[in-house]
Amino acid sequence: MGEEKKSLLNIHSYAGLAKERGESGHLYHPDSAEPSPMVQMALTEKFLDLCRANSLWPMTFGLACCAIEMMCLGMARFDMSRYGFEVFRPSPRQCDLMIVAGTVNKKMAPAVITLYEQMAAPRYVIAMGNCAISGGPFATAENYNVVLGVDTLIPVDVYVPGCPPRPEGLLEGFFKLQEKITGQRYPFPQFRPPKDKA
Ligand code: SF4
Repeated sequence: MGEEKKSLLNIHSYAGLAKERGESGHLYHPDSAEPSPMVQMALTEKFLDLCRANSLWPMTFGLACCAIEMMCLGMARFDMSRYGFEVFRPSPRQCDLMIVAGTVNKKMAPAVITLYEQMAAPRYVIAMGNCAISGGPFATAENYNVVLGVDTLIPVDVYVPGCPPRPEGLLEGFFKLQEKITGQRYPFPQFRPPKDKA
C-alpha cells in the first residue's frame, strides 16, 4: 500500500510505462476495468450517472495552443458553467475529467499518466485537437519527441478534432460525453423552441 502510494506521487515511476505505451502505437485499454461497487442498484446508478454527467469537474491542465480555446469556454461568452461543467479544479484528486488540450510530447507523457491515475473514479478523458488525437502537424518523421495520440497512454472517451477546435467544438465534446455517461442527449432548455412555435 505504501509503495503504491509512493508511486502515485512520483512522475518518474511512470516514465517506463509511458515509453512502453507510447512506442507500442496501440490504443491503451486498461487490463482490468475499474473495480465495481459491491452492491449495485440500477436506479441509483442511473441517478448517480445523471449527477456525474451534469457536474463534470475538469482539471486545470493545458499543454499547448488548444488550451487557449479551452479557456475561452470558461469565459463569459461561452460560459460552460451553464451546463454544470463548472470551475476547473486545481488538483487531480478533485476532478473527474481531463481535457488533453495540446501536444503531448514524450517528456510530458509520464506526467499525463500520473495525473490521470491521481484522478477520482469514475474518470473521463477528452482528447482536444489534432495534436492530442494523433500528433497533428507534428506527426512527421523528423519529429521524434511527440506522442502520436494520447489514447496510446490513457483511455480516451471523446475526441474533438480541429487545429484548434473552436470552443463550440469542445462544448459539443462535453455533450457527447454526457451522452456517453447517461445514454441520452439532454434537451437543454435554451435549445427548446418556444411553445407557440413548436
Ligand atoms: S491541434 Fe493545433 S492548435 Fe491544438 S495544440 Fe496542436 S498545433 Fe496547437
